[in-house]
Amino acid sequence: MRFLAKHRRVITLAAAAVMIACLIFLGLKTGDVKKIKTDSSVYAGTAMGTAIKKTIYAQDSSSLDEVNNLIDKRLRDLENQISIRVNDSEVTMFNRNHSPNGNYDLSHNIYSYLEKEMEICEETDGAFNPCIRPLTGLWGIEEGNTNIPSEKEIKSTLEYINPDNMKLTKNGVICSEDYMLIDFGAVGKGIACDEVRTVLNESGVQGAVVSIGGSICVYGDKGDGKLWHIGIQDPRAADGEVLGIVDVPGTVTVSTSGDYEKYFEADGVRYHHILDPKTGYPADSGLISVTVISDSGFMSDALSTACFVLGLDKGMEYANKKGVDAIFVTEDKEVYITEGLKKKFRLTGDGYRLEKYK
Ligand code: AMP
Ligand code: MG
Repeated sequence: MRFLAKHRRVITLAAAAVMIACLIFLGLKTGDVKKIKTDSSVYAGTAMGTAIKKTIYAQDSSSLDEVNNLIDKRLRDLENQISIRVNDSEVTMFNRNHSPNGNYDLSHNIYSYLEKEMEICEETDGAFNPCIRPLTGLWGIEEGNTNIPSEKEIKSTLEYINPDNMKLTKNGVICSEDYMLIDFGAVGKGIACDEVRTVLNESGVQGAVVSIGGSICVYGDKGDGKLWHIGIQDPRAADGEVLGIVDVPGTVTVSTSGDYEKYFEADGVRYHHILDPKTGYPADSGLISVTVISDSGFMSDALSTACFVLGLDKGMEYANKKGVDAIFVTEDKEVYITEGLKKKFRLTGDGYRLEKYK
C-alpha cells in the first residue's frame, strides 16, 4: 500500500503521458492522409441490359482483371435471377407460372427486394409500383415502340397493375389475378451496385467507380484518401455533359432517374419511360431528373424513380423522411437540393439555377 501511495503520482503522470502520446498519434493519423500508390484500369461493357463502365484502383495491378471478371460474373448471376429479358430467370418464371390466389414461393433475395418495394409503394401511395410491368409493356418504350396507346387500352391496363391484388406471404406472394407481372426495372441497377460493392469488399482493392446505366457505385478512394467528384448528367445536353458535381465518400450509390434516358417524341410531346400509375401516362410531375444518394444501391435507385413520379414537394418530403440526399431538376431548369448537399454540390450546367427550397 505504501509503495502504491508513493508511486501513485508517478503512475498517474506516466498514464497521462501515454494518453497524450496516443492522442497526438491519432491526431496525426486522421489529419495526415497517407498517399498509397495505386494502378487503375477502365473496363467498358454491357450488363443488366445497359452500358456499364468500371474504373478500378488497386495497389496490386495484377488483381485488376481478376476483380473485373468477378464483378462481371456476379452481375451475370444477378441478371439471370431478376431480369425479365432472361427466359428462365426467377422473375420470368414467376410471371409465367403464378396462378390466381395460389401462393408462389420466392427465393430469399427476390422476396426481400419485393418486400422493400411494396413498402415504398405503400409509403408513396402507389407512385412507385412494383407491379407496373403490364403498363410499361403496353407503352413499350424500353422496347423502342413509338406508338401512343389508346385511352381505352391505358384504362384497362390500369386494372392490371393494382398492388392491392398482390399480397406477400411468409416466403412468397399471392396474386389474385393471373395477368399480374413483376419486374425490377426501377431498382435492378441499384441492386447491381450493391452486388458490385460486395465483390469489391471481398477483393481488397483500394477503390472503384462503377456506373451501371443511371446508377453509380463508388467505393474506397484512389489511394489519396479524397472524396469522389461525381458528375450529374445534364438532362437536356449530350450524353456525358454534366449539370453539376457532387462530392461523395466511397460508400454510396448515386442513382439518377430522368425523362431523357428512354423516350420518344410525338407532336412535340416527350413520352418517357417513368410512368405515373395513377394516370397510366409518363409521369408529368414537373421534374426532368432526380438524383438520390444513399449507402444502399437499392434505395438510391428505388427512391430516384419514386421521387421522380412524386414531383418536387412530395419527393423532397419523402427523400428527407428516408434520410437520403437528393437533387431535383425541374422542367424550368431550377435545381433543388436536400440540406445535406449544401456544401457538397456545385452547379455547372448552362441555364440552370440553384434555388433555395422553401
Ligand atoms: P429508373 O430509370 O430507375 O427510374 O427506372 C425506370 C424503370 O422503372 C422503367 O423503365 C420501368 O421499367 C420501371 N417503372 C416505370 N415507372 C415506374 C413506377 N411508377 N414505379 C416503379 N417502376 C416504374
Ligand atoms: Mg430507379
